[in-house]
Amino acid sequence: MKPIVSHPDFARLHPTGDHPERQERLRVLLAAFPEYVQARPATVAELEACHERDYIEAVRWTSESGGTVLLDPDTICTESSYAAALLAAGAAIGAVEEEGFALVRPPGHHARPSAAMGFCLFNNVAVAARFAQQALGHNRIAILDWDVHHGNGTQEIFWDDDSVVFVSLHQWPFYPGTGGPGDGNDSTVNVPLRAGSGDGEYLRAMEETALPALERFQPDFLLVSAGFDAAAGDPIGGMRVSAEGFRALADQAGTACSRSALILEGGYNTDTLPSLVGSVLEAF
Ligand code: ZN
Repeated sequence: MKPIVSHPDFARLHPTGDHPERQERLRVLLAAFPEYVQARPATVAELEACHERDYIEAVRWTSESGGTVLLDPDTICTESSYAAALLAAGAAIGAVEEEGFALVRPPGHHARPSAAMGFCLFNNVAVAARFAQQALGHNRIAILDWDVHHGNGTQEIFWDDDSVVFVSLHQWPFYPGTGGPGDGNDSTVNVPLRAGSGDGEYLRAMEETALPALERFQPDFLLVSAGFDAAAGDPIGGMRVSAEGFRALADQAGTACSRSALILEGGYNTDTLPSLVGSVLEAF
């Protein structure tokens, strides 16, 4: 089983009220998985591998000014949000170092080089990919994103970079609107799936498109943007993947590369989130 990387502050910092991306998500996960490697915050230099300095500074300033501000229509920033976002990116780095599973919030895959978006402040998986390259010398990085939403921020950060292949399975048409048919290039593979898709559709997409793309690329390191909002019963997603389906996705992903790490993205049903994460942990 992969080691977990997390921090008790994810259940305390970045209070979002009754927003679906809330502290309770990490509270239930840390209660279910009490043993973990404690994450450190990312440094500004580590964030700068993916984000503009002015944007990082704007998030810090907005957060430290206090109050509750909307950075985009879906993304709240409070006085502890900058600290939480640094810790989430740092935990993603920790997951690379440990070849583990980072249980974090806020999520990251919608965050763009100079904009917050869709609950995401900094792009945790992208920061982790750059760390794997620059600090650990893993040249070829594959990112598999099975969150129900398209990882538009990750796609944008690596669009012109053929050292990082980005493969995304997601509901489409759906938020954020990108990742549809024809949206891609040599190192960006999008697999849009119809609303209501379940284990069969996801496993077929993995076998027919995602795995062959990963195998062609021959990554030195695999990162998984592991969202669980494609699960049956998720309050935001419209898909029907079961715990068994996530286990099978993880089983298949594990065959693509001997070194890997996972980073939590979405997943908003706090009753089922621990068991979904547990099935993926068992598979790896
Ligand atoms: Zn999502």
